[in-house]
Amino acid sequence: MQRYDIVICGGGLVGASLALALAHLPLDICLLDPVACAPAACPDDRTFTIAQGSKRALETLGAWPRLSPGDVAPITEIEISDRSGGFGLTHILAKEQGVEALGFVVGNAALLAALYESLGATRVRLHRGRFAGLTHDGSEAQVMVADGDKSGSIVCRLLVGADGTHSAVRAACGIGVVTHDYGRSAIVSNCRVSRPRPHTAFERFTADGPIAALPIGGDRYTFVISRPDGGQWQALDDEGFLEHLTGRFGDRLGRLLSASPRLGFPLVRRHAREWVAPRCVLIGNAAHTLHPVAGQGFNLGLRDVAVLAERIAEACRAHRDFGDRAWLTGYARARQADVARTTRFTDGLVRLFAPRLPPLAAARGVALNVVDALPGLKRALAIRTMGLKTPLPRLFRGLAP
Ligand SMILES: Cc1cc2nc3c(=O)[nH]c(=O)nc-3n(C[C@H](O)[C@H](O)[C@H](O)COP(=O)(O)OP(=O)(O)OC[C@H]3O[C@@H](n4cnc5c(N)ncnc54)[C@H](O)[C@@H]3O)c2cc1C
Repeated sequence: MQRYDIVICGGGLVGASLALALAHLPLDICLLDPVACAPAACPDDRTFTIAQGSKRALETLGAWPRLSPGDVAPITEIEISDRSGGFGLTHILAKEQGVEALGFVVGNAALLAALYESLGATRVRLHRGRFAGLTHDGSEAQVMVADGDKSGSIVCRLLVGADGTHSAVRAACGIGVVTHDYGRSAIVSNCRVSRPRPHTAFERFTADGPIAALPIGGDRYTFVISRPDGGQWQALDDEGFLEHLTGRFGDRLGRLLSASPRLGFPLVRRHAREWVAPRCVLIGNAAHTLHPVAGQGFNLGLRDVAVLAERIAEACRAHRDFGDRAWLTGYARARQADVARTTRFTDGLVRLFAPRLPPLAAARGVALNVVDALPGLKRALAIRTMGLKTPLPRLFRGLAP
């Protein structure tokens, strides 16, 4: 039976980042995933907005420098507007905020590949397999692993559940969830446009839901469209899809010329009722899944990574048991405020822009214009978007955990 100090279940962006953050500690670490250990085959061509703070953390982890310039598109301007009957428009500019960029758009596949390349230079063991069950005694957890028709088990002192929204680790620990179904889905497609606005991202709030357009370099933009009739949009042919999208987004980027195959994601907010169980802790989407409207999910998960890695490093230095439930509860306590704030912020945006009633539409327009006119308010919005809200964990300050 294999033995590790820590098994991280789920080698997505969050799990792989945690493995890297812990790699310098004197610990045996295993990263368990049925697919992500081969990111070259990643079929998910989504792009993510990475906040300034998260970029710094990824630099500290050594993954960011592995991205080629073509993989990263800086955002120097965000245009937020209400196209649902209101008249509000606000611009957030990097130069007004005194930073080189408000955030960066990076492809999911490129970022995963950079994380795995960095992991290749560490002692972290990549294990292909699916978490299939868990038992624990006072000091260890035994993790059942399935890989095709083979099965086995791994013993560890701490199991980290980084296995996403439908976390099997969370279920095996008997941790319940609170779920809010937004009743819509997000459709993601990379489109070419006739009049690109370099380095400008758009967030359009329409009567049927928000549409984000993220610059990914040259004339290409990732569109993230949230709609109640997402299935119907998925079923359209390319021409019909581009026509519908133009109708909702407008012509700010000229004509929409072509679209990549669309990906669909049901939109839910899901929070685990607890983040800690005996010999187990949850991070990333396994602990909290958000609406993607403000591009906060991975950024939030990366802050889980930074705080958990700090907590584990502290336990190592103090010769304490990092898998002890009471010690891990300190981690959960430290994460509560940030997760609650980010959830409120994201949900608040969805709610504020959801109602169709004309007086509310007008109020939203006024709100956006007020934000535009008040530098203090705009700065507060920008700081949240940039992931620079203090206190920042060590990884976000360029320091090892
Ligand atoms: C449309 C959309 C756009 C988004 N845009 C942004 C953005 O711009 N910025 C941002 O910060 N966030 C964004 N997000 C959120 C972001 O995608 C997630 O928060 C982030 O990917 C979560 O990472 P994770 O590693 O926790 O989970 P996941 O990415 O879901 O990874 C989970 C991993 O666990 C593995 N796994 C699952 N089950 C098992 C098992 N039984 N055993 C072992 N392994 C298992 C999976 O193979 C996977 O590799 C967006 C989300 C959506 C839907």
